[in-house]
Amino acid sequence: MPKYIVEVFCGSDEPEIIEVELYSEFYEDARYVAEIMHKSECPNPMMCSPEAGSVHIHEYEHRASCGADVCVKCDDHKDLARCYCGWSPSGNDGYGELTEMGETIEEDY
Ligand SMILES: [Zn+2]
Ligand SMILES: [Zn+2]
Ligand SMILES: [Zn+2]
Repeated sequence: MPKYIVEVFCGSDEPEIIEVELYSEFYEDARYVAEIMHKSECPNPMMCSPEAGSVHIHEYEHRASCGADVCVKCDDHKDLARCYCGWSPSGNDGYGELTEMGETIEEDY
């Protein structure tokens, strides 16, 4: 079942990224479903008028510098929660998160 990644705008400039799993092969259907999913948990339901933006299906290519498969369209790292290149799904600084968690590489003498 293809998993669509849909940007949904509602009020703010920052889109909400919604993952839609759908048997349909039509991107329009994915947009429609994502708008409904957004509506069910919009922080501002009274003013909610979601508008779906770009839609894509992850296209992973191996990126040697990350040691991971990375989506060429949105930088999603397959099976990773964060990466030293700075990526994390939340949009935070993945590298900072890693070092905060004490995952620094200790030098061995
Ligand atoms: Zn909304
Ligand atoms: Zn992607
Ligand atoms: Zn990376």
